[in-house]
Amino acid sequence: MTEFVLPIRADLQGLAPYGAPQDSVRARLNVNENPFEPSAALRTALSEAVYQATGDLNRYPDRDALRLRKALSEYIELESEFHCDPERIWAANGSNEIMAHVFAAFGGPDHCAITFPPTYSMYPEYARNAFTQLVAVERNRDFTINVVNACTAIEINKPALVLIASPNNPTGTAIRLEELREIIECARDQGAIVVVDEAYAEFRHEKDATAVRLLDTYPNLIVTRTLSKAFGFAGARVGYCLSSNSQIVDALMLVRLPYHLSAITQAAAVAALENSSELVEQVSFIRRERDAMIAALLGLGLTVSPSDANFVFFGVFEDRHVIWQGLYERGVLIRETGPDKWLRVSVGTPSENRLFLEAIADLVSSDR
Ligand code: PMP
Repeated sequence: MTEFVLPIRADLQGLAPYGAPQDSVRARLNVNENPFEPSAALRTALSEAVYQATGDLNRYPDRDALRLRKALSEYIELESEFHCDPERIWAANGSNEIMAHVFAAFGGPDHCAITFPPTYSMYPEYARNAFTQLVAVERNRDFTINVVNACTAIEINKPALVLIASPNNPTGTAIRLEELREIIECARDQGAIVVVDEAYAEFRHEKDATAVRLLDTYPNLIVTRTLSKAFGFAGARVGYCLSSNSQIVDALMLVRLPYHLSAITQAAAVAALENSSELVEQVSFIRRERDAMIAALLGLGLTVSPSDANFVFFGVFEDRHVIWQGLYERGVLIRETGPDKWLRVSVGTPSENRLFLEAIADLVSSDR
C-alpha cells in the first residue's frame, strides 16, 4: 500500500492518549470509583427505565435533557439545600464533557485559563483541545491554594477561566469557602469565570462548604459535578454543572454536539437520581473507610495529605515506582500521579482496603 502520512494536528503528533490501566487485579484502587456495585433493586429500576426509553429509540433523544436537568435540580435541593432552576443546569457525558463544553465556549486561542497544579490531569488536555493557553499557579507546600498568588495571576493574565478542583485530585484538599469567595471576586473584577470542579463534593467533611452555595451571590461561577463518584455511576457517563445564570448554559449549548446525551443515558440517570437515598448510606461508609485508611497510613509513619474525597494521597517515597510495583505484585493497583514521591489510592471495599493496607505495611517495613 502507498505510504500515507496522517494529516494530524502538529500539536498532537507523538502524544499518548489519556488512560489509566484497567487491569483485573484483586484491588482496583486507581481511578477513584465507588467500589460498590448497584444493588439489585437499583438495577431493576435502571433496567425498567432503560426499557421504557427503548420504545422511542427510532427518535433522537431530548437534545436539551429537560427531564434529567429537572431531576438534577431536585437532587441538588436535597443534597446541598440549594435551589437551582433547571435552566441553570447543564448535563453531558461525564463532567469531562461538561469541561470540554466550557473550554469550547469560553476558551480559545485569544483566551487563557488558570489552574493550580498538582491538579486533575485532564485540564491540560481540555485546554490543548480548545487551543487555550494554560497558566499554572503553584500551590502552597500543603497543597492548599495560595489566594494571594491566585489573585495576582488573575490580575496579570486576565484569564477567561479559573479552574479549581475542590476537593482536588490528586491531593484530596478542598478550598475554604471564604478563600473561594476572594478568588471569585477577583476573577469577577477581571471578567473571568471560576469553574469549581466538585466531582468529589459528596465526600467532604464539611458538606456546607460547597461552592453551590455561592451561585446566587456571584455572576461568574460554574460548579461541575458528576454521577461517576459518589453515585457509583461511572459506567453510565453522566456529569453536570450548575451555573450563576442561564446565559452560561446558553453558551454551553452553542458548542454541544446535537443529541450529545443518549435517551438511554438520560433515562438511566433520572432513575439513579430517583434512588439517591441508597447512595447516602454508601457515602458515609466510604468516608469512614477513608478516615480509617488515613489513620492507618499515618500509623505507618507516612505523610498523608488531608482528604475530603474518596481517595488518599500519601508519601513520601524515594522511589514511588518501587512501591507502586510492589503493590501491583500483591494484587493492588493504585495511581502514580501528581508530584514525585507521592502516590494516590482510592478508597475501596473493606476487603480491598485491608489488602492495600497489609501490602503497604509490608513494603514500608522492608523499605526501612
Ligand atoms: N474532575 C475530577 C477532579 C476528577 O477526578 C474526575 C474523574 N477522575 C473528573 C472530573 C471526571 O469525571 P467524569 O467525567 O467521570 O464525570
